Amino acid sequence: MKPHDGMYIDGEWRPAAGQETIAVLNPADEQVIGHVPAGTPEDVDLAVRAARAAFPAWAATAPAERAARLAALRDVLVTRKDEIAETVTAELGSPPQFSQLVHAGVPALVAGSYAELAATYAFEEKVGNSTVFSEPVGVVGAITPWNYPLHQIVAKVAPALAAGCTVVLKPAEDTPLTAQLFAEATQEAGLPAGVFNLVTGIGTVAGQALAGHDGVDLVSFTGSTAVGRQIGAVAGAAVKRVALELGGKSANVILPSADLAKAVNVGVANVMGNSGQTCSAWTRMLVHRDQYDEAVTLAAAAVAKYVPGERVGPLVNAKQQARVRGYIEKGVDEGARLVAGGPEAPLARGYFVSPTVFADVTPEMTIAQEEIFGPVLSILRYEDEDDALRIANGTVYGLAGAVWAGDEAEAVAFARRMDTGQVDINGGRFNPRAPFGGYKQSGVGRELGSHGLAEYLQTKSLQF
Ligand code: NAP
Ligand code: MG
Repeated sequence: MKPHDGMYIDGEWRPAAGQETIAVLNPADEQVIGHVPAGTPEDVDLAVRAARAAFPAWAATAPAERAARLAALRDVLVTRKDEIAETVTAELGSPPQFSQLVHAGVPALVAGSYAELAATYAFEEKVGNSTVFSEPVGVVGAITPWNYPLHQIVAKVAPALAAGCTVVLKPAEDTPLTAQLFAEATQEAGLPAGVFNLVTGIGTVAGQALAGHDGVDLVSFTGSTAVGRQIGAVAGAAVKRVALELGGKSANVILPSADLAKAVNVGVANVMGNSGQTCSAWTRMLVHRDQYDEAVTLAAAAVAKYVPGERVGPLVNAKQQARVRGYIEKGVDEGARLVAGGPEAPLARGYFVSPTVFADVTPEMTIAQEEIFGPVLSILRYEDEDDALRIANGTVYGLAGAVWAGDEAEAVAFARRMDTGQVDINGGRFNPRAPFGGYKQSGVGRELGSHGLAEYLQTKSLQF
């Protein structure tokens, strides 16, 4: 797509308040592919005012009408899926097939799920002598990361619109073109002016101005724990609603009765997908000591299929590449055993990192505790089920995980003891309506499905 040189505010592309721009790079070849304006607090203020002005009318529309607009939005995302995939590939670097299937495919599913939910959700409920109404919270400030550029936007904007909220979005500086494409889609879908607004810019300027703006009633943020903490503190001081989707360090627990080869292969694929830039990735594989050596051999064979530049894309930028290579060096320094990959960049050009597998990782090592956000898998050894549970639960995070066992009930019993928000049982399929969000420091609140919708609603009870 051709980049816009303005902000999308009140239903039109408007010149930015300032002169500064952000250069957008293709991380596969390090070439500049376009520029977008770097938003200032003035741009944010204009956008918030537009969202406030549009709020009463949008909040008062019948849910069926909001559902119709969301269905139209889904249709635009489906129609423009090739352009979406190309844009994500250009600015994030993900392989074309993955962009089609995941980066373009999933947002259309999620938008569709909210078209259905808006039409069917019980916005009104009888409780004894009361009627309880679910009403929209107001103006939403959405701040999104680059790892799933369109999904992260749609997972916030679609439920907000279904609820009757209006939105100002500040997308990641690395992936603003996908956000501009989404803004075009909201216009094509016939959303009234001011219901959705876009301000591109950098986090410490535009993001901070949005999170702290008095005219914003709810801040929904996805990204790093460090920034999430700050946003939570600012929102808390202003008694503002906040949803935080932060990091993860999820465990893939392979119980002795499991199909080991399948569990290892799916586990490797889960970590290598999107070059490991997935907050819910199962970056710690937990294997019983009797099966440990076999699992390591299987993982080393499985990862060989992930060739950089073919099946695996680059990381999003030079900083992330350096950060992930630093973690790999740290793993080696702390005594983990490299069985695939390593810190050397596999290609001369582009921000690639070698798909890496570490064995002999112990639970206290840095690579077993911190979110790496790259194609790096750690394989840990456990003695028995209680040991596996202690290791699985032994980080500050609790976003996702997996359990594999010969018998579903055995896997479920283990999953129920995990301190985490989502667990896939024996390779369970992605469900766009399943609530997604973290226990512990992985965040506050849930996205997707009716739980994701409820984040944007507040309740009023009338007694009779
Ligand atoms: P980040 O800085 O937290 O970025 C997330 C979003 O917040 C971006 O839109 C960012 O803008 C914005 N932002 C940054 N500072 C802000 C501030 N002070 N106030 C308001 N908004 C602000 O994350 P990152 O630097 O891109 O990635 C660093 C690490 O975060 C990764 O290595 C990974 O561990 C984690 N991460 C997690 C997720 C997830 O899905 N949970 C996603 C991405 C990253 P800019 O784009 O201008 O920075
Ligand atoms: Mg940042």
